[in-house]
Amino acid sequence: MQNVYVKTYGCQMNVYDSERMVELLAANGYQETQEITNADIIILNTCNIREKAAEKIYSELGRVRSYKEDRKSQGIETIVAVAGCVAQAEGDEIKKRAPVVDLVIGPESYHHLPDMISDIKRKTGKGMQLNFTPNEKFDSLPKNRIAKGFSAFVTVQEGCDKFCTFCVVPYTRGKEYSRPMQDVLDEIQNLATQGVVEISLLGQNVDAYHGKNGDKEATLAELIKNISNIPQIKRIRYTTSHPNNFTPDLILAHGNNSKLMPYLHLPVQSGSDRILQLMNRKHTREKYFKIIEDLRKSRPDIALSSDFIVAFPGETDADFADTLNLIEKIKFAQSYSFKYSPRPGTPAALRELVAEDVAQKRLIKLQELLKKQQTDFNSKFLGASMPILFESKGIRANNQIVGKSPYLQAVIAEIPDNHKPEDYFGKILNVEITQIKENTLFGKIL
Ligand code: SF4
Repeated sequence: MQNVYVKTYGCQMNVYDSERMVELLAANGYQETQEITNADIIILNTCNIREKAAEKIYSELGRVRSYKEDRKSQGIETIVAVAGCVAQAEGDEIKKRAPVVDLVIGPESYHHLPDMISDIKRKTGKGMQLNFTPNEKFDSLPKNRIAKGFSAFVTVQEGCDKFCTFCVVPYTRGKEYSRPMQDVLDEIQNLATQGVVEISLLGQNVDAYHGKNGDKEATLAELIKNISNIPQIKRIRYTTSHPNNFTPDLILAHGNNSKLMPYLHLPVQSGSDRILQLMNRKHTREKYFKIIEDLRKSRPDIALSSDFIVAFPGETDADFADTLNLIEKIKFAQSYSFKYSPRPGTPAALRELVAEDVAQKRLIKLQELLKKQQTDFNSKFLGASMPILFESKGIRANNQIVGKSPYLQAVIAEIPDNHKPEDYFGKILNVEITQIKENTLFGKIL
């Protein structure tokens, strides 16, 4: 058996892709290793969302080159592959700048990996696959996934047709594609029989899901309903959604499907209509407020999360004040916020930047507000009891176990010294919250 090492950057969809690559290669005689120095195949599964993503990959490839040279001096060959969104965006350039790379594979064509590896060993083929063929990809992946725990990510939708002016996803992941509903259900049923109890459905625009269902198309709400009919599955989540695809049946599902967790990540990016227009978001702040209002009617305890881009080109003090105002009105349980930074090839990258000192001050102010809201949200649970799905050991003490609340908070509980942590994993137990520190809740199992 040969060893494959995968380093994953970026989002949960990349985590899913990395798992699927390992499964694909396992079916072809490779086993996963956690030791890069021991790997016959090194795959960097890259992300292009963060600033200077490509530069970071090139510097990582410098380190990879030294492993490859060390092994070569011992007469052992190593194949190096760059996969994911940087591979898609950089293409040929990667091999020119980093000759250590043998294979460049886009996120919609990694099902070609086994053949490409064989070609490289035979010294044939171009070592490059950047086609957008998600349907062919999903059809080619092994039908039986290997569950890695009690929660699993399942990609149901890929790509994006929205072209927000700051975002590279439409260029790296291609057009919107939804997997047929039955394929998704089969994958989840298989995971459920291996002990998985929580499913997170993934997509760049997951609420735009419209997978084939016989001669019709299913909505995300219909998919969720069918998943909730699988008895072993106790919790369902989904991410990431776009306000324009948020449908009334999804809002209703939050109220009437007890397996759908009361947590929603719905990026708004800005609270200013003028900036939303410059971002080409195609929704207004009013639309966002309306969705949240309807959701809260359907599921009053829903916890909300969002993404914010601060100091988008052209953002004035008044625009920023609109964003703060939106946050104050909505009250988020947690959020992700970043200072705008240009992504090469996107329309916004051509626009003039907001002065750095102004951008930095705005980011600090926005993050202080979000942090306060997160603390306020968590504080509400002191003394309350919540069902927690336990999944792993604590890192500080042997008698600690870590789980997730319905609202995606990390919760730590202690177990008796003569109990094994593993016996608690995969179980949903009621916990009384006794202490709150930063983003972590502590409690005792009832
Ligand atoms: S909707 Fe999301 S993935 Fe699509 S372009 Fe906008 S930010 Fe990027």
